[in-house]
Amino acid sequence: MKRNAFIIIGAGIAGLSTAIALKNIGIEATVIEASETIRPVGAGLSLAANAIEALQHLNIADEVICKGRALKSFTLFNKGGKVIKRVNAQSASSTSINFTIHRASLHEVLLSKIDPEQVLTGKRSVELLETSSGFRVMMEDGSSIECNYLIIAEGIHSPLRQVLVPDAKVRFAGYTCWRGIASNTSLKISETSETWGREGRFGIVPLANNQIYWFACKNTTKQNALYKDYSLSALADNFKDYHQPIVDIINATRPENLIWGDICDVEPMQKYAFGNAVIIGDAAHATTPNMGQGACMAIEDAVVLANCLSKESNVSKAFQNFERKRMGRTQQIVKDSWRLGKIAQTENTFLGALRDTLFRLMPQRMYERQMEMVYKVNFN
Ligand SMILES: Cc1cc2nc3c(=O)[nH]c(=O)nc-3n(C[C@H](O)[C@H](O)[C@H](O)COP(=O)(O)OP(=O)(O)OC[C@H]3O[C@@H](n4cnc5c(N)ncnc54)[C@H](O)[C@@H]3O)c2cc1C
Repeated sequence: MKRNAFIIIGAGIAGLSTAIALKNIGIEATVIEASETIRPVGAGLSLAANAIEALQHLNIADEVICKGRALKSFTLFNKGGKVIKRVNAQSASSTSINFTIHRASLHEVLLSKIDPEQVLTGKRSVELLETSSGFRVMMEDGSSIECNYLIIAEGIHSPLRQVLVPDAKVRFAGYTCWRGIASNTSLKISETSETWGREGRFGIVPLANNQIYWFACKNTTKQNALYKDYSLSALADNFKDYHQPIVDIINATRPENLIWGDICDVEPMQKYAFGNAVIIGDAAHATTPNMGQGACMAIEDAVVLANCLSKESNVSKAFQNFERKRMGRTQQIVKDSWRLGKIAQTENTFLGALRDTLFRLMPQRMYERQMEMVYKVNFN
């Protein structure tokens, strides 16, 4: 069977990482992307130690690291600015340090490793047919592309996943999220933090080049019209009783750098492999962002998939092996992250106080051990 018959649908973090991983083992896959130009959606990203290790497997870790910023520590505050928990990011990771990076910088590195002719843009998949030699993917513009082996990396709203798993469910988590980048501030912030309070959760993630990525989550109903055009000043007002520099950061953000969207995940599925097709990244296991692991798992998927393909010449068996290796870990993270989100977003004063006390009393070693379990990945 010709090895150039692989198609990857979606040029996000999962799709591009997979194209690189396959190239490293001698498979030139064609990447199909819906957008006319490949533009990263989102603002900043935390890349935990497991992602850095995966990037090392792809031989691109150094290039990514020099565009990101190492985290010294992570601190959890209450809205008054009192420390609930402080964790040294380095000590919780035995393999590598953790990084923050602008999404655009990560995409730039990923794209630079792929031959531009390998990527076909402006093609949105809508339907999938099985053929005698593989698949025909039908596109929104009426065209179609045939392949022997199909890797579906279209993100959380993947239409091809829905063809293979019609009952797959995108779940609304019960809260909505604004993301922004504050640029050129005079604020000197050297740690990531989250602040938990009744009026919402606020995260601060310093990036390279004096930029600060931040996010704010509030409980609400799905696609609440009130929040569609919510302004930065409305957000600043929402967090006015929270400790600084939260309001300063919101005020240092330009309106064009504000992104809004509900937080959702994909309800854990039973299967990722379907004969000569496989689903990876958010299309397979989109998670709520509470553990900062979605993109990390997408990069891990790429490495594990390439390892499976390099060890097993029967592609369908290699895809099954991928599913077996990835199912447990990815679904555990989806479930843990969902639970953590519920805890972090509680608006009940008594439960919030109890939660803060329990987090404060949790032995440092116990917290670090949990982090180590998340960071430890079997890539083989
Ligand atoms: C608020 C928030 C904060 C986050 N923070 C972090 C973090 O700090 N750390 C972390 O590790 N993760 C984080 N994540 C998760 C992370 O963004 C995702 O897990 C990651 O982007 C998944 O990559 P992907 O390539 O699978 O999907 P996507 O990034 O969604 O990429 C899918 C690609 O497929 C294309 N596409 C879609 N439909 C079609 C179609 N029909 N045909 C062709 N192409 C198509 C899209 O245009 C896109 O290019 C966060 C997520 C959110 C929502």
